[in-house]
Amino acid sequence: MKDETPVEVWQRITDAGIRVLRIPTPFQVGRVNTYLLEGEPLTLVDSGPNSGKALDELEHQLESLGHRIEDLELVIITHQHIDHLGLVDIVAKRSGAEVAALDLLAPFVENFGDDAERDDEEAAALMHRHGISEEVVRALRQVTGSFRAWGSKARVTRPLRDGEVLELGNRRLEVQHRPGHSPSDTVFWDEERRILLAADHLIKHISSNPLISRPLDGSAERTQALVAYLESLKRTRELPAEIVLSGHGEPITDHVTLIDKRFAMHQRRAEKLYELILEGPRTGHELAQALWGDVAVTQAFLTLSEVIGHVDLLVNAGHVREVDDGDVIRYEATSERSADELGDLIPGGNPTAAAARPGPQ
Ligand SMILES: [Zn+2]
Repeated sequence: MKDETPVEVWQRITDAGIRVLRIPTPFQVGRVNTYLLEGEPLTLVDSGPNSGKALDELEHQLESLGHRIEDLELVIITHQHIDHLGLVDIVAKRSGAEVAALDLLAPFVENFGDDAERDDEEAAALMHRHGISEEVVRALRQVTGSFRAWGSKARVTRPLRDGEVLELGNRRLEVQHRPGHSPSDTVFWDEERRILLAADHLIKHISSNPLISRPLDGSAERTQALVAYLESLKRTRELPAEIVLSGHGEPITDHVTLIDKRFAMHQRRAEKLYELILEGPRTGHELAQALWGDVAVTQAFLTLSEVIGHVDLLVNAGHVREVDDGDVIRYEATSERSADELGDLIPGGNPTAAAARPGPQ
């Protein structure tokens, strides 16, 4: 509840048999939260990246709670990112635990390295098309290549369907697919306790990146990651959750307010990009540089994902079009209208704005 102190919130989480284990990662995001669900089956939600240091910490933190890796009976994977799934294979092999993940995600996890290579190739092609130089693309590919070691293949023994209810002893978790941050983001809803395990779908201190990823069904078409994300956020906004547990950072006790802030931020960012496009046609990379300077080079794929996601909103609403010169894509405005004349850019309408509008009495 909104007026609970952090200590009270943590007490409720503990009373629900949920313990957080904060596992170190080599990434900028810092530690990843994995969650131990006590009771039967003893369940771990996410595992941390594949490193000796992460494994040590996982062991020690489990030990301090009176458990061993060998005691785990089920490991749930929330999504395809390596800071969350890297240790799954080791944990599952040591414990004999079942591994559960969304059915759409299972082939990705089972073929981890192979698919990642294709991801890189398509990411490189996308970066070229949006004006990132060969040199930067090559440097980034080396970084992603070295990151790959933090992930791992694992066998998914319990594929989950969107909407299915996982019965874990006295705990019922509804599986809800929430694509956007990644195509496989899955949240787990405990309706009885009003607790949502949300992983990276919603994070208190940072907005979740709508990273461009290859579609899980193998289709060649690029999905609109931010559009998917905003649609997913709307569904999460409807849940009467009292506590949202994230993949990084602290628990969220007022998810509706946080989601509304995210909608406002994405609207503003799209407007800002529109202003830049209005000055003259620009590539995605030029837009990223205008917004983030050097970060657009060191984090070229991440910032390009942000730009493309927001420009998708503008293109879908008819304010911007893509101009392809056969080499790179540039964005240009379709009219002279100003940024404050664009109106609501949230797909299907911003639910906050709808609530604020005076309705029929
Ligand atoms: Zn993630």
